Amino acid sequence: MRSEYSTIIVGSGPTGLSAAYHLDEDYLILEKEAQIGGLNRSITINGFTFDHAGHILFTNDEYARQMFNRLLGDNVHYQLREAWCYQCGVHTMYPFQANTYGLPREVIRDCVSGMARAYLKYGDDDPKSYRSFEEWIYKTYGDGIARHFMVPYNQRLWKVPLSEMSHDWLSGRVPMPKVEEIIEGAIRPGIKNMGPNAHFGYPLRGGFQALVDGWRNLLDVSQVRTRSEVACISLQKRRVVLQSGEEIGFRRLVSTMPLPELVRRIENIPQRIRDAGESLNHTSILCVFIGLDRGNITDKHWIYYPELDLFFHRIFVQGNASPFNQPPNCSNYIAEISYRGSNVASKDVAIEKTLASLEKVGLKAPHDRVLVADAVYLPYAYVIPQWHKDAAIRAIKDFLGEHDIYTVGRFGEWAYYNTDHSILSGKRAADAINEKQRKHRVASAPRSAKRSQPAVATDPATVRAAGTSLDRPGGRT
Ligand SMILES: Cc1cc2nc3c(=O)[nH]c(=O)nc-3n(C[C@H](O)[C@H](O)[C@H](O)COP(=O)(O)OP(=O)(O)OC[C@H]3O[C@@H](n4cnc5c(N)ncnc54)[C@H](O)[C@@H]3O)c2cc1C
Repeated sequence: MRSEYSTIIVGSGPTGLSAAYHLDEDYLILEKEAQIGGLNRSITINGFTFDHAGHILFTNDEYARQMFNRLLGDNVHYQLREAWCYQCGVHTMYPFQANTYGLPREVIRDCVSGMARAYLKYGDDDPKSYRSFEEWIYKTYGDGIARHFMVPYNQRLWKVPLSEMSHDWLSGRVPMPKVEEIIEGAIRPGIKNMGPNAHFGYPLRGGFQALVDGWRNLLDVSQVRTRSEVACISLQKRRVVLQSGEEIGFRRLVSTMPLPELVRRIENIPQRIRDAGESLNHTSILCVFIGLDRGNITDKHWIYYPELDLFFHRIFVQGNASPFNQPPNCSNYIAEISYRGSNVASKDVAIEKTLASLEKVGLKAPHDRVLVADAVYLPYAYVIPQWHKDAAIRAIKDFLGEHDIYTVGRFGEWAYYNTDHSILSGKRAADAINEKQRKHRVASAPRSAKRSQPAVATDPATVRAAGTSLDRPGGRT
């Protein structure tokens, strides 16, 4: 076993795997779990495949789209989203604010009149001046939509007061219907194709894990070590120490582990960087996996639940993402429950409460047989958008950058990244390392060799353009 690598990559989620794929030098991936893939993993139990929280494929980026195609080949299919909200005993189409048709009349009245009042009062405001997510909700949609869905749902998801959250993350994530659309959506059934993921892809076979399996074909998997948790990092000695005590040297480190965890594990880090790491907040998700012996219970892909008497805030219907996610004539759900810190139910209690809530919302009948009931905890699920976070992240990244530590991905950049963004983030780190190495080689080549070097593009636009080819120069595929 080698004891020194040019680049060590911590974490084998989509960011780490993408960084490895795009790197032009030797690397070792260290992964603490027994399986590679991070949050893109799935597990299969008795013929039911469950993702680590509901996952679908969508992107606005052409390179990410090509990577999805390369990873999945023809093992993918596309569908029109069936996303719904459930409140007052009624299913309404997602997004709630544009689809109140079908709700009790007084709820529709609250939503439409509240929105009209907000529009007349704040319609000319620049939302950038709003201090919090809560203020943004009330001033954009009014108190009816806020009270009946936006506030309770988001409170259940984020588990922090919405007055403590920023709203700079909403654009491109939360559909923003116009006033006319909100009124239309109160009068008649709304339109389905609103928002960024109205048309989405999903692997036909293998669950979202099929993406992870795609990476296995593109990478040298002997360079991935699982069950290898990085416990400590010495910037001075350029070494990581694993939980087992083993030490491995590196020249550069690409970390996808959560920023606060990374900062805690670096020896002799300045107090101001430590404090910046500790100031970052996140939410965790408990996923309860349920397999039932009855098929065709719902045609929906996922459903949002704002009401407090239900255990989960969202159900993802795995079997409607792909029929191969379950045995024939069965149904398969992932219930998502947010938590923070240790304030979370045990597996047994969570399963019992999920089954009871599934019956309440009509996704399970008392006579349905439960063929699978299990749960996984995702300690890092969502980074909480707060105004102070950008300065904290900048301070940490600047400090680590000086030491050739690249911190990337959803939790390394502490950003609301999906799988596409994560793949691009890993690529950016690899591109930066490749470019640095190229410059270093040119600078250290003998003068005569330098003269005979072909001209190389150094302006960022040309380098970026060159980096958009999917074909790896090393021919690893
Ligand atoms: C509820 C939920 C729903 C989502 N839905 C979607 C969706 O529909 N579509 C979509 O595209 N994306 C979705 N995402 C986002 C997607 O899962 C992430 O963007 C992506 O997995 C992030 O990849 P990553 O590699 O940056 O991090 P991760 O996937 O978290 O990978 C990080 C890896 O680092 C490892 N690690 C951490 N610490 C150490 C250590 N000390 N030593 C060694 N290894 C370590 C972890 O075990 C993990 O394998 C969702 C996420 C959540 C939470």
